[in-house]
Amino acid sequence: MSQRTLSIIKPDGVAQGLIGEIYKRFADAGLKIIAARMLHLDDQQAREFYRVHCERPFYDDLVAYMTSGPIMVQVLEGVDAIDRNRELMGATNPADAARGTVRADFGESVERNVVHGSDGPGTAGEEIDFFFRRAELHPH
Ligand code: UDP
Ligand code: MG
Repeated sequence: MSQRTLSIIKPDGVAQGLIGEIYKRFADAGLKIIAARMLHLDDQQAREFYRVHCERPFYDDLVAYMTSGPIMVQVLEGVDAIDRNRELMGATNPADAARGTVRADFGESVERNVVHGSDGPGTAGEEIDFFFRRAELHPH
């Protein structure tokens, strides 16, 4: 079934020049980019986006990392887009990520792991709405 999911290339991914490499992987996996924007999150936006983790010990570090530089945010559309994108990403900790995944190839640590992807239909809808208005989505 065709789905949409939110993807972020995090500050370490943008700084390593990985936008093109990661976009190629989306295309090869049959994931279409139907919206995209580069932006630099402020502290309040990063706290809001990751509010589910606000009680976790890594929360303040995560917010500092996510506000440390520009990010590239995109909406992906395709069959099983949510799981397919999570497969391309690999496990949260690059040390545990399968070979050939983005995190295994380019992640530095459990925190600096290059990419974000929605983890289910509910969060995908909420996260897309966090960054994009309906008129900014361009299915093709
Ligand atoms: N994170 C971290 N330390 C941890 C777990 C997660 O710094 O022990 C960071 C990491 O950047 C991760 C993000 O918090 O991508 C969100 O964590 P989540 O468990 O949702 O992992 P994800 O869905 O990104 O794989
Ligand atoms: Mg998550």
